[in-house]
Amino acid sequence: MPVSMPPASAGMETDRVNDMEEMKTEQLREIIEKSKRIVFFGGAGVSTASGIPDFRSADGLYASEEENGLSPEMILSRSFFYLQPEQFFDFYRKHMLHPDARPNAVHRYLYELEKRDKLRGIVTQNIDGLHRQAGNIRVYELHGNVYENTCMECNASWPMEKILFSEGIPRCDCGGVIKPNVVLYGEPLEKYVCIGARREITNADTLIVAGTSLTVEPAASFIGDFRGKNLIFINRETTPADKQATLLIREDVAEVFRELSV
Ligand SMILES: [Zn+2]
Repeated sequence: MPVSMPPASAGMETDRVNDMEEMKTEQLREIIEKSKRIVFFGGAGVSTASGIPDFRSADGLYASEEENGLSPEMILSRSFFYLQPEQFFDFYRKHMLHPDARPNAVHRYLYELEKRDKLRGIVTQNIDGLHRQAGNIRVYELHGNVYENTCMECNASWPMEKILFSEGIPRCDCGGVIKPNVVLYGEPLEKYVCIGARREITNADTLIVAGTSLTVEPAASFIGDFRGKNLIFINRETTPADKQATLLIREDVAEVFRELSV
């Protein structure tokens, strides 16, 4: 016999799930009010509401065939940058630069928390610079950001526009190649950024992990430094660390923060 749900009970089921998620958001609001040293650890899911797609997600850039079947991880690697700089920059311009992206509900709420002196730091895997754009100061950008670019010959700094509006390989006035200050696959994370991020996580009373599948190392292992009371995960998908969470919200992070802002 085919199993089918009558529409009425399916609706009730959805209502119940929504009520539960709403209750959890209220729980999160209470935790935030009681906390004094919150750290926010965010991944690609934080930026999707700003129109920046997650290049690692299943329906992300893997689907595109223009890149000759190369995965984004291959193209965005240190060795590819040196071997095929032209192709690297074509891909980088097309998929990594989002000059029109603006902070969303998550960035704005976190800015308010920093102003209220509740937020000790934001640790992010994103390179879009949106937390700084929102006004936050204590931001640890583990993978760098697209707004900082340096000439590999003379170390001159260049804005993102220089790369955006150049063709082929972007070059400095001195003729050197301009390299974005983003951490490519195969490159180590900046030591001082890691030290700062780990220090904040270690000293936090509440750690909110959001919009990340926690699969990118070494960033994922940072969560293990947390010694505080509330470990909150907000993610639509399951993560390997879900069982560690003291509060698990299976919802879109921007949605949750929009509710919190009301
Ligand atoms: Zn130069």
